[in-house]
Amino acid sequence: MLLRLALFIILAFVVGRAFWRLLDGIVDGASGGGRRGGAGVPQRGVQMARDPVCGVFVVPERAVTLVAGGRERIYFCSEACRDKYRARSA
Ligand SMILES: [Zn+2]
Repeated sequence: MLLRLALFIILAFVVGRAFWRLLDGIVDGASGGGRRGGAGVPQRGVQMARDPVCGVFVVPERAVTLVAGGRERIYFCSEACRDKYRARSA
């Protein structure tokens, strides 16, 4: 009986930790603001966008953007890539 109780506590602890970690990840991703970690740790929560022309990953806030179809936002590393994409899709 005592063993079952201990097992239950351990299980609850493990599941609870996993749950909170998952929740933390969702909140982090939704807010977009990465938590300040140690030096050299890549910023979490920053969604990288892929340049469809050259395949380079860019940070949206520093990228050249093109709004396609009136709502879809596409990010490019440079205006040259944006022009190439526009010429290709036109
Ligand atoms: Zn590019």
